[in-house]
Amino acid sequence: MAEVRTVSVIGAGIMGRGIAHAAALGGYRTILEDIMPASLRKAEGEIRANLDKAVELGKVTKQDADAAFGRIEFAGSVEEAARAADLVIEAVPEELESKIEIFTLLDKICAPNTILASNTSSLSVTEIASVTYRAQRCVGMHFFNPVHKMKLLEIVRALETGDDTIAAAAEVGRRMGKEVVVIKEAPGFITSRINAMIGNEAFYMLQEGVASAADIDKALKLGLNHPMGPFELVDLVGLDTRLHILEYLHRSLGEKFRPCPLLVQYVKAGRLGRKSGRGVYDYPEAAKPAAK
Ligand code: NAD
Repeated sequence: MAEVRTVSVIGAGIMGRGIAHAAALGGYRTILEDIMPASLRKAEGEIRANLDKAVELGKVTKQDADAAFGRIEFAGSVEEAARAADLVIEAVPEELESKIEIFTLLDKICAPNTILASNTSSLSVTEIASVTYRAQRCVGMHFFNPVHKMKLLEIVRALETGDDTIAAAAEVGRRMGKEVVVIKEAPGFITSRINAMIGNEAFYMLQEGVASAADIDKALKLGLNHPMGPFELVDLVGLDTRLHILEYLHRSLGEKFRPCPLLVQYVKAGRLGRKSGRGVYDYPEAAKPAAK
């Protein structure tokens, strides 16, 4: 198994910047790229701030934080970012066409042994890998938000992913400080599938009047030790995002994932969660003026 030394991250949004932060702390030369220069600048500021915060909290020494920041380079094109990479992690928006475009380009630019990973939360890595001539070197690396804090990395084995590729991705994950689980490609992986099921069931209970939203949240937190209640969580994720995931799981896994009508109705009403000022709960401070 060839050793990974240089990790390139394509897309410097919420996830890409966190992945770059963790890769640099793990000792890798890290190259971060985004199509939007403003996004790259924002990522640079945020990574610095999060590293400083970690020093303040005593989680990292100042010396390690400075060394990590020094390992990050910022690139203005995919070519520049990926040429020297041993592993490229793609973190562009969740649209199949964008991922396919990036993987087609990466396959041309990168050395034959370079591993191409996608941070997709739901799309088929098999389908993304099919546009390359190296499907055995393609893998899913599903990180969690916020990446610099969340412990888990789901590694997704697509149809053709090789054992060497899984082993290399797992080693990188461990050096990034993550606990790794390896799964066979399936809709929703482990986490999105279970989470969608619990969240949907909670909506059915609310719809049936079994208990109030606050009491359902309280029961899961105090009785089942969940860190957040299902309604607190869906308000954070976005009800529209959750509905998209459920519709996808319903199409691919069947009836048990049929979205609860109450969730559908909330989305139709514009109750999308924290981001819109109202979801299951109200967030008056975040409310935006209604569009005319
Ligand atoms: P985001 O919108 O915050 O960031 C995407 C970034 O990609 C943007 O900065 C955008 O400018 C950039 N970009 C778009 N097209 C590009 C291109 N052609 N080349 C280079 N950069 C490009 O999105 P995100 O939340 O970071 O999500 C990225 C991926 O991670 C998605 O596949 C998403 O499903 C997955 N994911 C997200 C979360 C989450 O909680 N947000 C969790 C796990 C996985």
